[in-house]
Amino acid sequence: MSDVFSKQKRSEVMAHIHSCDNKSTEQALLRIFRTHHISGWRRHQLLPGKPDFTFRNIKLVIFVDGCFWHGCPKHGRIPKTNQKYWRAKLDANKARDRKINRELMRKGWHVLRIWEHEMRSPDKIIHKITAALDMIHKK
Ligand SMILES: [Zn+2]
Repeated sequence: MSDVFSKQKRSEVMAHIHSCDNKSTEQALLRIFRTHHISGWRRHQLLPGKPDFTFRNIKLVIFVDGCFWHGCPKHGRIPKTNQKYWRAKLDANKARDRKINRELMRKGWHVLRIWEHEMRSPDKIIHKITAALDMIHKK
């Protein structure tokens, strides 16, 4: 298989992309929480899929999904080189996300997934989160 990167180099590149996009989107959500005085969350609790934020008291988990890695319908794309590899990889990620959602819901958790690109419109995120909180409180 021809490849611009060696296997090791490729996993380094991937690890880099992964940690970067996740860190910055998590930070963005943290800022939104602070600005809107949303509290009661913890980070990286030991739950299926290691949710980015967990509101234990109301059993809500929030994942921030990178547009590339989680195959966002608007920005998801298959890189031009190694298409076969990437298609399989990204499909596996999406299947994993669905499996994690099911697992968490079976355990009684509410699951909220926020796209990386939604960080650009904090109002929409706040709307999504407050809608989820309302729904949970009404139960
Ligand atoms: Zn997107």
